[in-house]
Amino acid sequence: MKGLTYSLSFFLLVLASCSHPMPEHTGGWELTEPARALVQDEKLIRQIFRALDAAEAAGTDPRISGFHVRAATTVEHDGTEHVILGGNTEYEVPEAIHAETSLLNHVTTLLGREATRNSVRFIAFYGERCGNSLGCGDCRDYEIATTNYQQLLIVCGQASDHTVRIRRFSDGTVPEERFPKATAEDIPLSKKELESLVQAALEARRGGITLMPTGRHTGAAGLSFAGKTYRAAGADDAAFHFRYPIGGLLQQAATERDYFLRAIVVAGETGKWPRVSYRDRQYGYESSGFNRLRGKPAILLILTDGRGKFRMTTFEEALPHAFSAGAFMPQAVDDFLRSHEANR
Ligand SMILES: [Zn+2]
Repeated sequence: MKGLTYSLSFFLLVLASCSHPMPEHTGGWELTEPARALVQDEKLIRQIFRALDAAEAAGTDPRISGFHVRAATTVEHDGTEHVILGGNTEYEVPEAIHAETSLLNHVTTLLGREATRNSVRFIAFYGERCGNSLGCGDCRDYEIATTNYQQLLIVCGQASDHTVRIRRFSDGTVPEERFPKATAEDIPLSKKELESLVQAALEARRGGITLMPTGRHTGAAGLSFAGKTYRAAGADDAAFHFRYPIGGLLQQAATERDYFLRAIVVAGETGKWPRVSYRDRQYGYESSGFNRLRGKPAILLILTDGRGKFRMTTFEEALPHAFSAGAFMPQAVDDFLRSHEANR
């Protein structure tokens, strides 16, 4: 009997400790003032701290950059909390699987697509220092496609002082409908330059590769400061390695060692505003970074509806809180441009 009582007491003790709430500051994390203003839900805050504790141990393989990106989220699913990890992996040319796409893919793998859309409330990054970036364009495309991104929070836990920053993912999104409208006269290109770019973009859109149906097929044409025009259309393939129109034309310009673009026009279906993926905005932002480095104006990003209406912005406006090689390593980019520019 004594033994049974002891076992029962032990059982109740275990039960009590299981149902006891988790300590609030598991890793000594502390929200910054703006983060506290954004999130007051104590349960969510505890889940964020829990994810940050776990993210510290996320596996990564940044064999090229040496830059570890560790991410985690806490998801409630079927009455249980799951802490799920993601980490970056780099390979070859350089390419990479990024931490946030890795993480969301793990959520889908473990809990399914609906859980990814409905139950992922935040992505928490663990790092020595928190930067200003809200991720690359490609990750933004993936987050928009797979999560309830209007509500998604981006968290950064700074290991050096254990402060936690929280921002809305949607601060990094700008729908095409929010690009300012412009008349042909507003656009700082000659009438002839604008007309020929629109024509080139429309013509490009007739090509490309669209083996899989999409309502988002576009063509793009760019004009360089050297006066040359480059153009490309989207192209799909069986491996789902889509090639993007803006990236395509910028690659052609770079192949000619023509690194400074003035304007890029994007055309979609006649009568509709074309979509510009965030991945393509990333290519444009990086290229506009060359202009920024040399004191040239930012590349103009112009949408045409194919019927004489325009919207005009810049990649800096279309991809807020972005990062680029020009910001990471300005001297290396400057040296590269000096040794590669054509017509020097
Ligand atoms: Zn990314």
